[in-house]
Amino acid sequence: MLTLSDPALLRQQCYLNGQWLHADTDGTIDVVNPADGRIIGTVPRMGTSETRRAIEAAHVAFPEWRARTAKERAAILRRWFELIMANQEDLAVIMTAEQGKPLAESRGEIAYAASFIEWFAEEGKRVYGDTIPGYARDKRIVVTKEPIGVCAAITPWNFPAAMITRKAGPALAAGCTMVVKPATATPFSALALAELGERAGIPAGVFSVITGSSKQIGDEMTGNPLVRKLTFTGSTEIGKQLTAQCAGTMKKVSMELGGNAPFIVFDDADLDAAVEGAVASKYRNTGQTCVCTNRLLVQAGVYDAFVEKLAAAVARMRVGNGLTDEVQQGPLIDEASVQKVEEHIADAVAKGATIRLGGKRHPLGGTFFEPTILCNVTPEMLVAREETFGPLAPIFRFTSEEEAMRMANDTEFGLASYFYTRDIGRVWRVAEALEYGMVGINTGLLSTEVAPFGGVKESGLGREGSHYGIDEFVEVKYLCMGGI
Ligand code: ADP
Repeated sequence: MLTLSDPALLRQQCYLNGQWLHADTDGTIDVVNPADGRIIGTVPRMGTSETRRAIEAAHVAFPEWRARTAKERAAILRRWFELIMANQEDLAVIMTAEQGKPLAESRGEIAYAASFIEWFAEEGKRVYGDTIPGYARDKRIVVTKEPIGVCAAITPWNFPAAMITRKAGPALAAGCTMVVKPATATPFSALALAELGERAGIPAGVFSVITGSSKQIGDEMTGNPLVRKLTFTGSTEIGKQLTAQCAGTMKKVSMELGGNAPFIVFDDADLDAAVEGAVASKYRNTGQTCVCTNRLLVQAGVYDAFVEKLAAAVARMRVGNGLTDEVQQGPLIDEASVQKVEEHIADAVAKGATIRLGGKRHPLGGTFFEPTILCNVTPEMLVAREETFGPLAPIFRFTSEEEAMRMANDTEFGLASYFYTRDIGRVWRVAEALEYGMVGINTGLLSTEVAPFGGVKESGLGREGSHYGIDEFVEVKYLCMGGI
């Protein structure tokens, strides 16, 4: 059992219409700690009927929730934010236990997750409409923004709390209600958020969390006409499938999908800063974030020096159980993830890459993997095209800015990108040339609740965070008044 100051935060039931419930069928799913393979607890295996009930409850709760003033909703969201922060340590322990990331990263994610609730509680008060000068003497035009209605959210395991609050914060602030399906590997973080939401006073039906069959829950969420919006974070493959399913009832969708982030180091870069940024962007969450660097592109003049410095920094990283002090890299989420990293390394080595550091499973066993660096990587290798989602840094070499841009954009993805240079002209040229939704310039970290997070091309649709994020949960209504 986990040691928590408030054991009630480890909820093993689902939260549906303000009640804590087992599945209709009584089936459960084990939730396993990836660091030691032990079962932390179980959650209900829910499906179509429970999802339908949650959606219907969200539909019933919607009129009263939307009728409240933004300030009234904000007061509840503010309490939710404060409760999340007051329970940061317990929530971090739950997260590390089910997800594997080091405790320091879990604490950081809880603060990051809470920030979306705080920020959107405030932003909800500023969902302004518009007045437009009329096109006839007796006409007036007013534009209002209304909450879209019942929203469904499907979230991944790599950020078990933040991917939920980044959706629930703007949805609830705007006056929408929401049903969430968290990833099967990390449901306890979601259920703990629901517990705190209940304590904060979120009314029954406004926010429900359903665990269980992805297929059944996803089919009901995308097929049920009461749902007006689906917001998803996960793989491009599933995102496309869900978008297609939503077409049947023309739901609005937001899709935060896969990436293939380039991290470009130019000859004139501050190499120490670039190394620090590369470590943060590559190895955070054991390389399992959609904005993690997937490809390092380094200019020929600094290639060897950069590799030396990066290898020295990465060699110092401590791998282990995230609950242990000073661990910087936890296990991967599951065996399939380890196999993908192994496959990418084997493919690269077979095509001429060299292993500079790591390259194999960690002596700790299980799903632990050595932080790895590959050199002399070329575009023919799998790592150039596919998101590794693991602690593998493949380093490509380029000579000119044009070549770097060609390589960087040679992907169907377009989420995050990074580059390091000290030339102001190049900063603008490269920032404009990168076909990505986000560009980190001389920084390896760019996520914040105040900025728009999202991708272009096959990395998705829509933006989360910032004032743009709330637009995803409102509809614009045009009122044309005549006879004046
Ligand atoms: P990853 O596991 O790589 O983050 P996935 O796209 O497989 O990405 O999973 C993201 C979320 O989508 C998880 O909550 C998962 O359970 C859910 N999911 C997976 N397949 C489906 C599906 N067919 N319908 C609905 N949800 C799904």
